Amino acid sequence: MYDAVIVGSGPNGLAAAIFLARAGARVLVIEGEATVGGGMRTAPLTLPGFRHDVCSAVHPLGMGSPFLRTLPLADYGLEWLAPPIPLAHPLDDGSAVALYRDAAMTGAGIGGPDGERWRERMERLAHAWPRLTPALLGPRPFSPHLLNWARFGLSALQSASFFARRTFAGERARALFAGLAGHAIRPLERPATASVGLVLGMLAHAVGWPLPRGGSQALADAMVRYLRALGGEVVCGWMVEMLAELPPARHYLLDITPRQFLRMAGDSLPGAYRTRLAGYRYGPGVFKLDYALAGPVPWTAPECRAAGTVHVGGTLAEIAAGEREVWYGRHALRPYVLAVQPGVVDESRAPAGKQTLWAYCHVPHNSDVDMSHAVEEQIERFAPGFRELILARSARTAQAMHAYNPNYIGGDINGGVQDLGQMWTRPVPRLSPYSTPLGNVWLCSSATPPGGGVHGMCGYHAARAVMGRLKIED
Ligand SMILES: Cc1cc2nc3c(=O)[nH]c(=O)nc-3n(C[C@H](O)[C@H](O)[C@H](O)COP(=O)(O)OP(=O)(O)OC[C@H]3O[C@@H](n4cnc5c(N)ncnc54)[C@H](O)[C@@H]3O)c2cc1C
Repeated sequence: MYDAVIVGSGPNGLAAAIFLARAGARVLVIEGEATVGGGMRTAPLTLPGFRHDVCSAVHPLGMGSPFLRTLPLADYGLEWLAPPIPLAHPLDDGSAVALYRDAAMTGAGIGGPDGERWRERMERLAHAWPRLTPALLGPRPFSPHLLNWARFGLSALQSASFFARRTFAGERARALFAGLAGHAIRPLERPATASVGLVLGMLAHAVGWPLPRGGSQALADAMVRYLRALGGEVVCGWMVEMLAELPPARHYLLDITPRQFLRMAGDSLPGAYRTRLAGYRYGPGVFKLDYALAGPVPWTAPECRAAGTVHVGGTLAEIAAGEREVWYGRHALRPYVLAVQPGVVDESRAPAGKQTLWAYCHVPHNSDVDMSHAVEEQIERFAPGFRELILARSARTAQAMHAYNPNYIGGDINGGVQDLGQMWTRPVPRLSPYSTPLGNVWLCSSATPPGGGVHGMCGYHAARAVMGRLKIED
């Protein structure tokens, strides 16, 4: 009899398992695929000697996660690498705006009054990050640090477009902010999209945007090694169809999203809960590309050549237009592309002298359209000659992403839309969003607060709720 069986070995499933095992519980993790990690896998997708992050690549949330930070993952093989520049955003005049670890350097690069505004705002936010995390990465939007929370909230509740236009006068700062807010995967005119830009910006200054040496798999592997050292068990290759097939346990934590839960629980869920789960909203998908390159991407702007991440999309107006198209079910002609070049900091990803490039753009939910041409046009725009370096490419449509990981419904990488209606009440409004009417069955994926990203906090909060029950039962 296990204390807890966890279905799914994504960052949230593993975080839940580690929390419980560390508290002395007997835990088993069941993973459907042949390897562990969920959104943290690294694989040889193109040519021999090239290794690519299939999903996540850059980890400001992992670095800033109050739970992951407590784990001795360095002892289990994890090494964080900080690119010389966390992020660069190229513009059509051949220049780029760079987001440095240092808010003052970032401000200087932006220049003028906008630069000073960036420094002043972001420095203050970065300083407040430890006080903001209980609310930003917590199960509820409450913070004991009322002043910090109120200050953040007043800006965060705005739409990214409004915030950027009201705060900055020039295109450089506006574009930089639009690229950050574009991670929201929602139209930049929607309320609270500014929150995503603010969080990612402040994280760059507070903790950086690091990559694990060897790829995101190194984070997954370190978590599994630590879990096993704590006595936890992990089995792979068991895609759970129904709850009834799970081994006996006092509690079950499911690192899956509502649509899968509905299938897995069969008729055991009460009708009202089923209806609410069925109303859970999933968002646009992603189209993912991985390249084996003969050399570094020939960006025109020098800042881009030293940046771990490059936001390819031009101005605020252009990024906003592209994201709007996607939200309303159309493919953007000039998509906003998120690119990562691990080679600036990690020589282990490709044979000597060669490079990998990781890129994706947002596409309508469940899209089966190959966006390779549009993505490459965008990269060529800021890095002429890029195409000539391509040795091989691996492409996955949104439908293919869903087939790869059952949690990516329609290609949605956040486990459901993250807007005010689903931010803290995901998957349905309940006293504990992790609990279900089944009593000993809990949800712990990114479809619970605080949502998408590799931070493990959904798993951590769910496991804390389970731990409370285990103590009572003991
Ligand atoms: C292209 C892409 C880029 C991304 N980039 C970043 C990034 O740079 N930084 C970042 O922080 N985040 C990024 N993300 C998002 C991040 O990967 C996810 O938000 C995160 O992995 C969600 O974690 P999770 O534990 O909730 O679920 P997942 O990581 O999806 O893990 C769920 C696991 O459960 C398993 N599973 C599902 N159903 C079953 C079943 N029935 N039986 C057994 N096992 C099952 C799956 O196989 C999977 O291994 C990216 C995602 C994608 C796709």
